[in-house]
Amino acid sequence: MIAATKQRTSSEIDEAIRAGIAVVGENRVQEAQEKKPSVTLPASWHLIGHLQTNKVKRALDVFDVIQSVDSLRLAIDIDQRAQAAGRKVDVMIEVNTSGEASKSGVPPESACELVLRVSALPNVCVTGLMTIGLFAEDPDLGRPCFARLRDVRDEVVRTGTSIAHLSMGMSHDFEAAIEEGSTMVRIGTGIFGPRPHA
Ligand SMILES: *Cc1c(COP(=O)(O)O)cnc(C)c1O
Repeated sequence: MIAATKQRTSSEIDEAIRAGIAVVGENRVQEAQEKKPSVTLPASWHLIGHLQTNKVKRALDVFDVIQSVDSLRLAIDIDQRAQAAGRKVDVMIEVNTSGEASKSGVPPESACELVLRVSALPNVCVTGLMTIGLFAEDPDLGRPCFARLRDVRDEVVRTGTSIAHLSMGMSHDFEAAIEEGSTMVRIGTGIFGPRPHA
């Protein structure tokens, strides 16, 4: 379980880690950069929001894993920055399984090819796929999105490339996501309560 910590304070994040959370998911590079120095307990930090290419360097300063890679261009930038920093970076490929134009992510039809191309880069390692289900009151409406992500994973596996993780499911739909094969749920309000208005 990842704690989705957008709009939460550093002390709330510490409290979650103390309660057993090992992975923190933040949406914005700048917000994470501001809060992380005041978080005293160790955790793995994952970027779960969209990443602009001009923020890659800063993102790599803050995050252990970039879950939102949705273009080869972005992956190449991460690869080059990783090389300059002398490290390898774990990334996940974000797939737009709901078809909603407001969401980022590569279309499912192109996802397998992107995984293979990104996997060929020397300084990044593709550890999984990420998606945001269709936003709806009824969590079962998100279910086909989660099944679609699993299908993409199976397509990749058939090429002989293994990927361990499916990051899917949020507070309102994690049960359906787990039933469809999620290995990583991203929970915000379910841990911390309703978000304060921005
Ligand atoms: C906010 C957010 C979550 C968590 O959402 P909740 O409904 O608060 O559980 C998960 N994933 C992403 C990408 C988010 O932006």
